Amino acid sequence: MTRRSFTLQILWPFLTLLLIALGVNTWGALRFMQDFDVDQSMDSLEIQARLVVHALESLKGDYRPEQVDPICKALGQTTGTRITAILPSGAVAGDSSESVGAMDKHGDRQEVRQALEGQVGRATRFSHTLHEDLVYVAVPIVDSGKTVLVVRASKSLAAVQQTMRRALTLTLLLGLAIAIGAVAAGGALARRISSPLQSMRRGAERFANGELESRVPIPGSVELADLANALNQMAAQLRERIQIVSRQRNELDAILSSMAEGVIAIGQDERILTVNRTACRWFGLDEDSARGRYLHEAVRNPGIHQCAARMLSEALPFEEECLLAGPGERHIRVSASPLGDELGNKIGALLVLNDFTQLHRLEQARSEFVANVSHEIRTPVTSIKGYAETLLAEPPPEPEVQRRFLEIMMRQADRLAALVDDILALAGLEGAETDRDAAMGPVDVTAILDAAKQACQPMALAKGMTIALSADAGLTVRGNAMLLEQALANLLDNAVKYTEAGGEVGIEARRAPAGIAIRVRDTGMGIPAEHLGRVFERFYRADRARSRSMGGTGLGLAIVKHIAALHQGQISVESTPGQGSVFSLVLPSA
Ligand code: ADP
Repeated sequence: MTRRSFTLQILWPFLTLLLIALGVNTWGALRFMQDFDVDQSMDSLEIQARLVVHALESLKGDYRPEQVDPICKALGQTTGTRITAILPSGAVAGDSSESVGAMDKHGDRQEVRQALEGQVGRATRFSHTLHEDLVYVAVPIVDSGKTVLVVRASKSLAAVQQTMRRALTLTLLLGLAIAIGAVAAGGALARRISSPLQSMRRGAERFANGELESRVPIPGSVELADLANALNQMAAQLRERIQIVSRQRNELDAILSSMAEGVIAIGQDERILTVNRTACRWFGLDEDSARGRYLHEAVRNPGIHQCAARMLSEALPFEEECLLAGPGERHIRVSASPLGDELGNKIGALLVLNDFTQLHRLEQARSEFVANVSHEIRTPVTSIKGYAETLLAEPPPEPEVQRRFLEIMMRQADRLAALVDDILALAGLEGAETDRDAAMGPVDVTAILDAAKQACQPMALAKGMTIALSADAGLTVRGNAMLLEQALANLLDNAVKYTEAGGEVGIEARRAPAGIAIRVRDTGMGIPAEHLGRVFERFYRADRARSRSMGGTGLGLAIVKHIAALHQGQISVESTPGQGSVFSLVLPSA
């Protein structure tokens, strides 16, 4: 359907109707005027014809052309009308403007025929002689019931026709003026109606563009004012609803975004409906572009696909564990449940993903730890038990053998005690990690260096070594003095332990760009490169036999690492086998 402007829709029928009315009216008026004029002309011709009849009656029946023609010519000239006298034979007896001899018979002319029958004949006809329309009136002269002569008066219609033409021109001009006026008035009227409609249309367009706080102006007419009010009301309600919906959506987004769990909602067609920030991070997705994509396209994890497919085909919620491969391997527990609409119809599946990697690691570490502890304990316990059995055997061993055995049992018991001490220290440190600020305060670095040195001095002296100490003045760190002392004592203890008699051991503290660097050096056996990365692990020993023989528990460096972490510090080691090692503990300055 072709659409036209409101103005044109009003204007066209209006104009057409007007033109038809004007046309019909003009045609009717002109027709009436013409008929009236012709009738008038005929009436005046009849009067003139009767005057001529009156004049001819003086001839007393002698209607020969030489009698009649002069009268016709004289009266014709006087009245300015063409007068013709016709005999019943049709022959012309007189004519005001032509010579009688040159004229043909006139008996067949319509008005003449009527007059020959005794009536007044009237006719309008085109004259081939004069080349114009003429009006004719014929009046009979009757003698004893018979027409003896017909007097015909005729006149050109040119004057009437000219009047008609002028009237027509005038009417057309008037009609045109009226039409122009009507178009202008109609246009103005249409504009008056359409301009509020236009402004309402613009208002509706603004609403469609989301400018719901704008308002449509209220027009003057009642009907349009109702429409404008209805539009404004609609916009206000729409705005309110959109605000509610967007507030709810924002709340939902905020909840979903701040969830530590990953959330993925999919439709029955496996397209993603919603995915939260956490899930996007895990699967490397963009929150906005992921929506609408197929799950198997966006998330490359067969475990998740299986859970989704299972949930879409089943009705009951379930839980499943998945592994997210990649650099940061994650252990995920997927809780799948059906996604329903407000009517309770299932419209998809909801997957809530819980990262239990940390828990998994802890469980693993704990079971490893238990295995390691059992293993560490078994050796001294087996040894003590073996020697005790030998001592209790009959006959008892020699007294000096007994003493040797008892000394071995004593050493093993010391090892067990050291192990228990270290395990307790580690457990204590792990507890402290959850309470970072426990007993933290400013610590004088030189004082802890000195205390650690004192603790290790006896063992060093026993090996004929001295511990060199050097520290920049006035160094302080924020921390726990006892723990820091323990960490440094562990490092110094190792340095002494793994350095042959005659070697050198030193401890120093320096200001460094990253804080305060405390270094423990020795010129001992060193650590082979392949072990360097792992010596801080619990129960890891680079040289198992030597560690055991030295009464090492394998936990000393793990304790140091924990204490460093507790102080937001870094522990590292550089070592060259056969030349010595340097352990660096960098702590943030106070
Ligand atoms: P241990 O009780 O066995 O000394 P640690 O955790 O203190 O356990 O040390 C782990 C391992 O690192 C040791 O077994 C040893 O092999 C190696 N190690 C530690 N400190 C030194 C050092 N200063 N020189 C050589 N090796 C060392």
